[in-house]
Amino acid sequence: MKTDHTTQTLSTVDFPGKFSSQTVAPYIAPDCEVHYEALKSGKLLLPHCAQCHRTGPPSGGCCPWCGGDERSWQPAQSAPVIHSWVRYHRAYLPEFNNLVPYEVIAARFGDGPVLFGRWLANDVTPVIGTEIRPVIERWADGFCGVAFSEKDANL
Ligand SMILES: [Zn+2]
Repeated sequence: MKTDHTTQTLSTVDFPGKFSSQTVAPYIAPDCEVHYEALKSGKLLLPHCAQCHRTGPPSGGCCPWCGGDERSWQPAQSAPVIHSWVRYHRAYLPEFNNLVPYEVIAARFGDGPVLFGRWLANDVTPVIGTEIRPVIERWADGFCGVAFSEKDANL
């Protein structure tokens, strides 16, 4: 059975520790507020272009594929796969000291955007091309970002 990604509410996990997101949260421009607000309610919304019908990343004022500026926010239409990943052996911010070593995933959604997020399966080495699952990671101050886990992880 194929998962219906359009109605799926994602699992939310707390970022380890009681840290504020102040040093790690991105600047949330008006054109991507919808994405970050939706994460707080368990939804991963991405901009869908009315002109070329492709899905883009949740940033920027126009479609990265055709330049169209008429977009609607829709749930991710496909499960992401690992496009690339990196393992950090040093924490560049104190919020990550207790997590070293940890991995960050570049995940591709269908023919659309690549999103970056922390890998939650600490004991599993990521494999490029593997289908994974987006998860919402909530910081102590309420900021929510995208993280990734194994497809069948019990979260
Ligand atoms: Zn477009």
